[in-house]
Amino acid sequence: MKKMFIVVLFITISSLYFAGSLTYGKFRISFLDVGQGDAIFIRTPDDYTVLVDGGPSSKVLEQIAEVMPVYSRTIDILILTHPHSDHVNGLTEITKRYVVKKAFITGVDYYNPYYTKLLSLFNEKKIPVYFAKADNDFKIGKNVYLDFVWPSVPIAGRKFENVNNSSIALRVIYKDKIIFLGGDAEQEQENEMINSGFNLSADILKAGHHGSRTATQDEFLDKVDPRIVVIQSGTGNSYKHPHKEILEKLFDRNIEIRRNDKEGRIDFIF
Ligand SMILES: [Zn+2]
Repeated sequence: MKKMFIVVLFITISSLYFAGSLTYGKFRISFLDVGQGDAIFIRTPDDYTVLVDGGPSSKVLEQIAEVMPVYSRTIDILILTHPHSDHVNGLTEITKRYVVKKAFITGVDYYNPYYTKLLSLFNEKKIPVYFAKADNDFKIGKNVYLDFVWPSVPIAGRKFENVNNSSIALRVIYKDKIIFLGGDAEQEQENEMINSGFNLSADILKAGHHGSRTATQDEFLDKVDPRIVVIQSGTGNSYKHPHKEILEKLFDRNIEIRRNDKEGRIDFIF
């Protein structure tokens, strides 16, 4: 009996260790399978975690459990690109159940009950909240940089006619690998980013607004010049994302297309 207990204990400890060490020492970015919405999880080689958006529901909890080590309950940096339901809703459950160390938002004026709930959770849990700005770039862990490229001026308190065009955009940089995440930015915001003169280049681009034809315009693709485009859209979504014009354009440019609606969760491990 005692021997069996020790064996069970050994298996438990080693599987805990194994799950946690799967990607330890590597850089990981996972485009989570949350249906029609965005949720991107990043883990640095030295075990810092970043979550960009939380998708439309608590499905993000199951997805994050698959990529987080079981011993970890910490999100070091949480970023809400903009307060639409398909980005903000899942973050409320995350903030309830995980220890969030700091959060970046834009602070735009927009009503969504989940956004209100998230802000009150930040307040209740005394989570430091920052308004993202293009000059707030910083390093996380030893060798991962978050390079914010939009907004270039503070937009807290501002109302947007189309809140998609208030999306935090950033480049995640690990050694020679760069990933561009721009929320639901559509052409109008893409133009502002192009005109800002910032370096927008990246190896991997998350398609703007779930592969809608209103984003990922030619001039923007020229600037980012990605090798791979990831499209976060849900199977059979009512918007018909990704739009065929975008898929054709990427195909013509010889860019590899990765889609959550076809593949489920998409991971890159460097
Ligand atoms: Zn969206």
